[in-house]
Amino acid sequence: MAKCPPYHTATNETAYGQRNVYHDHDDCPDGRQIEDKNWRSGANGRPRCDECKQLG
Ligand SMILES: [Zn+2]
Repeated sequence: MAKCPPYHTATNETAYGQRNVYHDHDDCPDGRQIEDKNWRSGANGRPRCDECKQLG
């Protein structure tokens, strides 16, 4: 479990159960579903992922 710089997916996240959020844990279950080709660094002005909030 490790915190990491903010990242998000370039796609809309309806398939992941989270919409328009950013992640800041590299082991977030939602964040881990982001495909490499869609991975983008930064928060992109999105709110923080609920899963990442629980991870700390
Ligand atoms: Zn997350």
